Amino acid sequence: MRIDIVSIFPEYLRPLELSLIGRAAGSGGPLQLQVHDLRDWTDDPHRTVDDSPAGGGAGMVMRPDIWGRALDDVLGAPAPPTDSTPDQPHRTVLAIPTPSGMPLTQRTVEDLATADHLVIACGRYEGIDARVAEHYSERMETIEFSLGDYVLNGGEVAALALVEAVARLLPGVVGNPESLEEESHGAAGLLEYPVYTRPIQWRGHEVPEVLLGGHHARIARWRRDRALERTAARRPDLLAALAPEQVYPDDRGTLAPLGWGVTATGPVPLRVRPARPDDAARLSSVASATFPLACPPELDAEAIAEFIAAHLTRERFEEYLADSERYLVLAGEMGGEIAGYTLSVLPRSAGEAPYAADVAEVVGERPAAELSKIYVLPEYHGSGLARTLLTETLRVLGGVRIEGEPLAVVWLGTNARNRRAQKFYAAAGFERRGRRTFQVGGREMNDAVWARPPLESAPRAVAD
Ligand code: SAM
Repeated sequence: MRIDIVSIFPEYLRPLELSLIGRAAGSGGPLQLQVHDLRDWTDDPHRTVDDSPAGGGAGMVMRPDIWGRALDDVLGAPAPPTDSTPDQPHRTVLAIPTPSGMPLTQRTVEDLATADHLVIACGRYEGIDARVAEHYSERMETIEFSLGDYVLNGGEVAALALVEAVARLLPGVVGNPESLEEESHGAAGLLEYPVYTRPIQWRGHEVPEVLLGGHHARIARWRRDRALERTAARRPDLLAALAPEQVYPDDRGTLAPLGWGVTATGPVPLRVRPARPDDAARLSSVASATFPLACPPELDAEAIAEFIAAHLTRERFEEYLADSERYLVLAGEMGGEIAGYTLSVLPRSAGEAPYAADVAEVVGERPAAELSKIYVLPEYHGSGLARTLLTETLRVLGGVRIEGEPLAVVWLGTNARNRRAQKFYAAAGFERRGRRTFQVGGREMNDAVWARPPLESAPRAVAD
């Protein structure tokens, strides 16, 4: 590859003679690198490259005629011979650094690394007359790129960055090409995990123990989790841009507490919050869409419809939401839209027993609250939303006080034949206490009864 850089401060680019790039540009290396002084194309004794801005204003603008002469010459320079074919002709790219350009990304860098000839035009002052970019972009591949949302004095630092990023991708420049694979902005789409070396103890900070154990699968999982955490904290935009195939099933447990659920389209923000009165209609439609799927197959459509009409209407939800001493409703949002909820029934007095005698028999602790519903729309099953809703509900219940007393137990009944549900509650620390029977649509149903204490949390008002 050949790279030409044009600048009024050629000395500024001397660092390119150092290290890996310097070696790559040495004889026999994969890079031909040349730096040019723009003033060599001036035609006055003062070697002037700028003039005052058309229309007035502060500063000076670089003249298009000087740049045109320089670029015509440099672009015409022969690039190293390549295997160019009619299908893959010789490719030359003009790159113009400017704070108003497209942000430079690893994808752009990877693409530029496949060019045969790269010419970089470094501006100074208020920049280069706009007709230069206009003219060349009509004739050849031209990119205007920005290093970031800040303003430098000149394009030389941007040129150094571009050359370094492109050149390290050329074959033979980085000694161990494997080191390019797991880097930030690579194929994984995540920021890299933190890295460590000896000494193992340094100023009270230790290398994480897992990295010293030599257990490759554990190290890989630890690194993946740290990469997910870092990306969630520092670059949520990268997380949101992940494709579904870039997220692994095991990532879900890590992503959910970080506020991200995984859907068929990739990660989306996940949030659990207290439901508000204006959520009633949406909660009713989520409940009505979810309830039939949770029913045992012997329950007919009519009985299901009857139940929905009696218990899952908007009006019913308005009642629940208006009575925060009796009901706790938490809404689970995926991508800003309610996709699930929990409804817990609180005792009105500390000694109040669960309403069903068979539950009261197996759940003896008081005060006792019932986790009556945990519904998640089917398209969000496996997204991490249900688990987050459950954890958050247990946490909020942990802050509830009934006549000054914290809840001793949270119980729930779930279809005894739904094995997925049994596993889910067991994994969340619930203990199976027994069974209860109840009626739906005139049929007797069997539920398994599960219970556990709420999670510890500071006392808080239910309607927070
Ligand atoms: N007036 C210009 C503007 O506001 O967009 C800024 C000109 S800047 C002072 C001078 C030169 O620095 C630019 O022509 C460009 O070559 C370079 N430059 C400054 N900030 C840059 C950035 N964020 N990315 C790439 N190049 C930059």
